[in-house]
Amino acid sequence: MFVCGNQACGASWQPDEVQIRDEGQGLIFRCPQCGARNHVVARTARDGSTSYRQVPASAAPQAAAKRPAGARPKAPGKGPGQGRAKSASR
Ligand SMILES: [Zn+2]
Repeated sequence: MFVCGNQACGASWQPDEVQIRDEGQGLIFRCPQCGARNHVVARTARDGSTSYRQVPASAAPQAAAKRPAGARPKAPGKGPGQGRAKSASR
């Protein structure tokens, strides 16, 4: 699985959801969502199949999982039935 390096995006993709190509600076894939370039390396297995592995552009380990201030986590319907008050009586 690949994860978009753009912190504001951060979308994850399956290898067959992205197009990997060489744009002159090594293999990259463009995030289908935001278009950010993400570096990958190709690995050929013993059976001849090629797999791709994502490498961070900075090649630095980012242990701190900081979320950008602008990113809001989606709350999937967690509210206790707080619907729209449809009372038009006023
Ligand atoms: Zn992205």
